[in-house]
Amino acid sequence: MMESLLRHMVELTGQRDHHLLDVAVISALQEMVGASQVRVLDIFRVGDKAMMRPRAWIMHGKVIAIDESTAHQHADTELEQYPVLVDCIARQGGRAEETGPDGEHILWVPIWQNEIATACLQISGLTAVAPATLHVMEGILSVYRNYQNLLDYSERDSLTGLLNRRTFDEKFSRMVACSTPADSTLASTTERRHPNDIEGQWLAVVDIDHFKRVNDQFGHLYGDEVLILVANLLRSSFRTQDRVFRFGGEEFVILLRSVSLADARTAFERLRANIEEHHFPQLGTITVSIGFVSISSSTPVVILGHADQALYFAKSNGRNQVCFYDELVLRGQLHSEVINDHVEFFFDDHPG
Ligand code: GH3
Ligand code: MG
Ligand code: MG
Repeated sequence: MMESLLRHMVELTGQRDHHLLDVAVISALQEMVGASQVRVLDIFRVGDKAMMRPRAWIMHGKVIAIDESTAHQHADTELEQYPVLVDCIARQGGRAEETGPDGEHILWVPIWQNEIATACLQISGLTAVAPATLHVMEGILSVYRNYQNLLDYSERDSLTGLLNRRTFDEKFSRMVACSTPADSTLASTTERRHPNDIEGQWLAVVDIDHFKRVNDQFGHLYGDEVLILVANLLRSSFRTQDRVFRFGGEEFVILLRSVSLADARTAFERLRANIEEHHFPQLGTITVSIGFVSISSSTPVVILGHADQALYFAKSNGRNQVCFYDELVLRGQLHSEVINDHVEFFFDDHPG
């Protein structure tokens, strides 16, 4: 027992990635408890409904893959379908047990972050977990929580709390590696659909307009305050499964998953409008320019470069607008040529 516990602790703390950490903890629990299935479920809100979605899953010793690209295929369930868990969360409880319809024991363990249950563990097995095992399990979970907080800290930007550049590089290259060429896999299932309806993945680069003026007029510290407020507007403008990063300075990047072009455009346009309409103390209002692109089977550098081109176009054509790379190219407003692996771009002298 002691030896296997140590082994699990070493395994747990050897991880540098949230997903691998999840897998390590559920493997440890499954082995200790002899459970048939252990899942980590994210808890998030959509409107006024609390929802759950599996983010790591182990069944009869086998890890069921749930990665960035397949997460959306696992159906979201409403939390209210699990009254025992709802009740446990309501009283800020540490765990709750129930017997499922097929006689299986289910142990629920909410994962608390600043008094909010952001996730939970669901441990299912034929027998109830013995009190001594529960005790050890709680120890493992404390290590897991602390370690998760540490990982969280290293993934985020200290000023705004958004995901940082390093995390972007990791997540984005993984996302690009997973994305399949649009013309091979999508064609069969989406033949009769308008190209606007095809679900895809999108990347947007957001840059605050004339931010130097804010610093010049109000000072750098005030500028920092504005960045925090803009970060909050960014967070609240997107869904939990979307990812918002501080790319550097006053530039942000957004990754949208599984939405149509029309929906992506609406989402970015809504962000632009939310920022334009926000009143900042003293300063009044600011605007942002946004360039976005579809995440295709190209390389990360090329995709990011295209988003930058669209952003640059937005900047040089009046700012405070959202520009879509493919559309600019299609309209002949932006030309791109790939020469020896690096992208050269130039603009029409007479746009429009
Ligand atoms: P544009 O509309 O062309 O984007 O104009 P801009 O003034 O925003 O120009 P640009 O994006 O090139 O410059 C960004 C400026 O943002 C430079 C720097 O003064 C400021 N900045 C970058 N990072 C920070 C930061 O962390 N805090 C503060 N306060 N200012 C920053
Ligand atoms: Mg900038
Ligand atoms: Mg700027």
